[in-house]
Amino acid sequence: MSSTPSGLVVAVDGTSGSGKSSTSRGVASRLGLRYLDTGAMFRAMTWWMLRAGVDVHDAAAVAARAAEPRIVSGTDPLAPTIAVDGTDVSVAIRSDEVNAAVSPVSAVPEVRRRLLEVQREAIGAGGIVVEGRDIGSVVAPDAQVKVFLTADPAARAQRRAAEEGGADEDATRESLLNRDRIDTGRATAPLVQADGAVHLDTTAYTLEQVIDQVVALVTAVGERA
Ligand code: C5P
Repeated sequence: MSSTPSGLVVAVDGTSGSGKSSTSRGVASRLGLRYLDTGAMFRAMTWWMLRAGVDVHDAAAVAARAAEPRIVSGTDPLAPTIAVDGTDVSVAIRSDEVNAAVSPVSAVPEVRRRLLEVQREAIGAGGIVVEGRDIGSVVAPDAQVKVFLTADPAARAQRRAAEEGGADEDATRESLLNRDRIDTGRATAPLVQADGAVHLDTTAYTLEQVIDQVVALVTAVGERA
């Protein structure tokens, strides 16, 4: 097996439902790396705001409370965890309510600033695959490997609806596209293909094939190091 360079950071960004989580977890477990799901952190922040009764469409109200929740991510790719103030919210953050509120909350600069600190702390000395929207551009611009994943909206909706146990595909597609629109259009750290990122359109590939391609990129970096 090839060795991975020390301090390695693999940045996996892309649109909602493009396969970032499954790919990132697969790459991390194959290469013995840690895994960080930054989307789960934004979801956890959103879950907390909703529970605290904050109007998620009032940016000033969200900003005023952004420092309050303590969000902790476990980085084992086989069993990632996410907790807010000691409560496991892994299931709760996948609700329709959070899906609908997470992009407006994530557009608030104070939320991003707060979570950037937590993300950089979790990345620490590296040896990690990090997935999100702004990892290669903002969170870890020096990452040795940067990937930008996309897929056709129909394929994304089909995969996501299947994951969610047969949810309505049309509604799922609208929810994904709405999040993409807000994530791409926001002023702070928008969803963007970072400088130096390799674009992979996953529409026609199986998960294993996408993992193979990302592992090959990491291996190539290891050979150059
Ligand atoms: O990756 P996931 O779909 O769980 O992300 C949920 C939402 O969190 C995204 O639609 C986006 O609004 C936000 N997010 C972000 N920056 C990241 C990761 C996620 O703004 N690095």
